[in-house]
Amino acid sequence: MGKRILVHVCCGPCATSSIERLLEEGYEPVLFFSNSNIFPNEEFLKRYENLLIVAQHHNLEVIIDSWDHDQWLEWIQGLENEPEHGARCSRCFRFNLLRTEKKAKELSIPLFCTTLTVSRFKKSATIFAMGEDLEGFEPIDFKKKDGFTKSVKLAKEMNLYRQEYCGCEFSWR
Ligand code: SF4
Repeated sequence: MGKRILVHVCCGPCATSSIERLLEEGYEPVLFFSNSNIFPNEEFLKRYENLLIVAQHHNLEVIIDSWDHDQWLEWIQGLENEPEHGARCSRCFRFNLLRTEKKAKELSIPLFCTTLTVSRFKKSATIFAMGEDLEGFEPIDFKKKDGFTKSVKLAKEMNLYRQEYCGCEFSWR
């Protein structure tokens, strides 16, 4: 039996190489799609459906969280005009990590991590800082071991939708 881990997944493409690496390293991943930051809801569902393709490929379970975008907007209030990679984004990571910690506790899964670290547009150190005090958080840097390049290749092979903006309405511009 591997180590059970709840994996916060932001989208299908980022899940590809991250899941492969976790399986190679002997983890037993349970996928958690918790992304209230994504706007609009159609986009949230589109990214979820893409994740299902990846999950089916590995025969893994996916748990979908509710889409509480209003709650997320309240959480980042005052930071709407921050540039991407700034304070709004750190707070956004925190929101999703807190939800994942809560879900891991509910399911008695001892560990959790996030695929957010695969993106070359996001600093893993910032994500780790947002999770370091949370119970069970595993600071896995999915960018390492060529994670980003592999995710691009695998997403192409699986014919996955690749979004052109990070997620929230403030990342459109
Ligand atoms: S740009 Fe991306 S990381 Fe930053 S707040 Fe928006 S959705 Fe979150």
